[in-house]
Amino acid sequence: MNKDWRWHWQEDSEIKKCNNKKCDATFNFLLRKHHCRRCGKIFCLRCWGYKLYLGMYQSEKQVCIYCFYNYLDKLAGKDNDKDHLKND
Ligand SMILES: [Zn+2]
Ligand SMILES: [Zn+2]
Repeated sequence: MNKDWRWHWQEDSEIKKCNNKKCDATFNFLLRKHHCRRCGKIFCLRCWGYKLYLGMYQSEKQVCIYCFYNYLDKLAGKDNDKDHLKND
């Protein structure tokens, strides 16, 4: 188990709903929580599972919808997330 990347994860127990405000799904025993490997926040399956290559892990990981589209913006030349990544 590789645990060193879990330090920035959102606390599981406090989260009742998906972090995508447009989704707002409530978690229960059927709807499992998923941590975005990039921002560390918790999302439901619909808003998570996008694959990105993450430099900090040197491999492809599953991320949330926000991080995924943020990355696409970067590719498109809107490089406004650079500092945020460095701080992580
Ligand atoms: Zn994310
Ligand atoms: Zn969701």
